[in-house]
Amino acid sequence: MRIKKGDTVEVISGKDKGKRGEILKVDPKKDRVIVEGVNIVHRHVSPTQDMPQGGIIENEAPIHASNVQLVCPRCDEKTRVGAERLDDGTKVRTCKKCDEVVDK
Ligand SMILES: [Zn+2]
Repeated sequence: MRIKKGDTVEVISGKDKGKRGEILKVDPKKDRVIVEGVNIVHRHVSPTQDMPQGGIIENEAPIHASNVQLVCPRCDEKTRVGAERLDDGTKVRTCKKCDEVVDK
């Protein structure tokens, strides 16, 4: 998977199409990611000591990694991710739009 925790991505399909958010969690086995503020589900909870009224909890549900694209921190465009090897052997990800390295 070419997306990492902390990346900013844009949703490219589904009801949250066009939304941007930070990757909160990546599940490489299932190819799913959790994006801040995207695919919010409401869960009703019964009353507890902390919440005597019970209530509704909002949570981000995972979406498939193919539904998001990385937003390049350099050119601010959603882009495909390339890979490059630096002179010292480090692998980095690059932006296909501006060719800049997107890893910090
Ligand atoms: Zn770029």
